[in-house]
Amino acid sequence: MGKVTGFMEYQRLQEASEAPQSRKKHYKEFLVHLDDAQAKTQAARCMDCGIPFCNNGCPVNNIIPDWNDLVYNGNLKLALDTLHSTNNFPEFTGRICPAPCESACTLGINDDAVGIKSIEHYIIDKGWENGWVTPQPASVKTGKKVAIVGSGPAGLATAQQLARAGHEVTVFEKNDRAGGLLRYGIPDFKLEKSHIDRRIEQMQAEGVVFRTGVLVGKDFPGNITNWSKEIISPEQLQKDFDAVVIAGGAEVPRDLPVPGRELKGVHFAMEFLPAQNKINAGDKLKDQILAAGKHVVVIGGGDTGSDCVGTSNRHGAKSVTQFELLPQPPEQENKALVWPYWPTKLRTSSSHEEGCERDWSVATKRLEGKAGKVDKLIACRVEWKDGKMQEVPDSEFELKADLVLLAMGFVSPVQQVLDAFGVDKDARGNARASTEGAGCYQTNVPKVFVAGDMRRGQSLVVWAIREGRQCAREVDLALMGASVLPR
Ligand SMILES: Cc1cc2nc3c(=O)[nH]c(=O)nc-3n(C[C@H](O)[C@H](O)[C@H](O)COP(=O)(O)OP(=O)(O)OC[C@H]3O[C@@H](n4cnc5c(N)ncnc54)[C@H](O)[C@@H]3O)c2cc1C
Ligand code: SF4
Repeated sequence: MGKVTGFMEYQRLQEASEAPQSRKKHYKEFLVHLDDAQAKTQAARCMDCGIPFCNNGCPVNNIIPDWNDLVYNGNLKLALDTLHSTNNFPEFTGRICPAPCESACTLGINDDAVGIKSIEHYIIDKGWENGWVTPQPASVKTGKKVAIVGSGPAGLATAQQLARAGHEVTVFEKNDRAGGLLRYGIPDFKLEKSHIDRRIEQMQAEGVVFRTGVLVGKDFPGNITNWSKEIISPEQLQKDFDAVVIAGGAEVPRDLPVPGRELKGVHFAMEFLPAQNKINAGDKLKDQILAAGKHVVVIGGGDTGSDCVGTSNRHGAKSVTQFELLPQPPEQENKALVWPYWPTKLRTSSSHEEGCERDWSVATKRLEGKAGKVDKLIACRVEWKDGKMQEVPDSEFELKADLVLLAMGFVSPVQQVLDAFGVDKDARGNARASTEGAGCYQTNVPKVFVAGDMRRGQSLVVWAIREGRQCAREVDLALMGASVLPR
């Protein structure tokens, strides 16, 4: 423990950020990592409490008390090595992870939790600033070839681990740039894409080959981003590679089957968000869905919905309203009941701070419009009794809506990709594979492994990284009979 009395002396500090009214004018990140003195006092708040619940609450099991101590004592290089020993990409999680580790922090029982995420952000940014993050190519090559389908955080983590174990790794990505939802889901103001680019350069220097614009399989649904120019069959991959890892995410969006769904101006969030990321990358698009001057209604109260709010405000929307079907959660959780688990409580994102009307227990009944274009949303209030939803009598109301964005989550991975491989699925349509015991992360198809959202359903970046790392170990074991890769 860096400082025995630190948790009594120092308050938790939020990272500095640009004011909402000014950051709404651009798409750049607006959070500033802690400075050296701030990081030291924040790390000093860690009590090294003996059973570090934070380490267990973190899906990649970051060794948090150790790096808190190292930051306090100014040993940043070792703090970075410790951080990297469990997480390939802390610059992603240090920016966009909801930080389940902080919900599990022991200090959080009767005080503000240690600012673990801000310390992670500080360590990795200092690592890049000091030139400490360099390629780590394997000293011995195995001669084994592995194909990875999908370049989201699960695919990238699997690829980096396997390349460092000496395998020849090729990543196939249907879109025109690598990164998965980091690239084409999460807006730049939460994660600038230069962070992905420099990791890809690092991985290329470690021997990973990226083949973008290549779809694996053949049939693909029209409403999901697919900028492929080339197709390769699963059979070809199985023939050319010693192992294949499918890490294609869970891209099928949940639809809203109400009258008027077919009107112009009603779009899935993932039709709206990727376009802005492409424009920010300097691409020219013929038809971008724009929120400028419109009354925008975002349906769905999660992360994706919040990203639609932030992007709509940056476009210059006239108004932004976000609806959620579930009731409004409490502002504060009951720690005695939920600690150290992730609590259900009201979360206000940076995008909400920038301007948005939020409403809960609201169901959309229909959409109406003129000349085939949406201009109105008719909704009602609902009550939840014994887990069942009921319409509140006479609660119908209407709202101006020129753009309706559907952000109600994702149903499953694209089934055609799993079917093309002949992979067994679970009841939710995810690829079936266990995460524990012999043969974990392996599908029913020989040589075919699975990781990330394609296996667990739409989740978090940190879970995708965990699955990618664990899957890499299983692939290495299967290919070599032994593995030194960590689980
Ligand atoms: C808008 C949005 C915001 C989010 N915000 C956050 C956040 O703030 N924090 C957080 O932790 N999580 C967030 N998430 C969730 C997080 O992004 C995902 O859980 C995570 O990216 C999953 O990683 P993955 O590698 O499994 O899949 P993905 O990131 O979905 O990557 C899968 C990749 O596989 C490619 N692919 C699929 N099929 C094929 C094929 N047949 N051939 C070739 N390529 C293929 C896809 O094009 C894609 O690039 C967000 C999700 C969305 C949609
Ligand atoms: S749970 Fe909190 S106090 Fe305990 S080791 Fe982790 S960060 Fe430190």
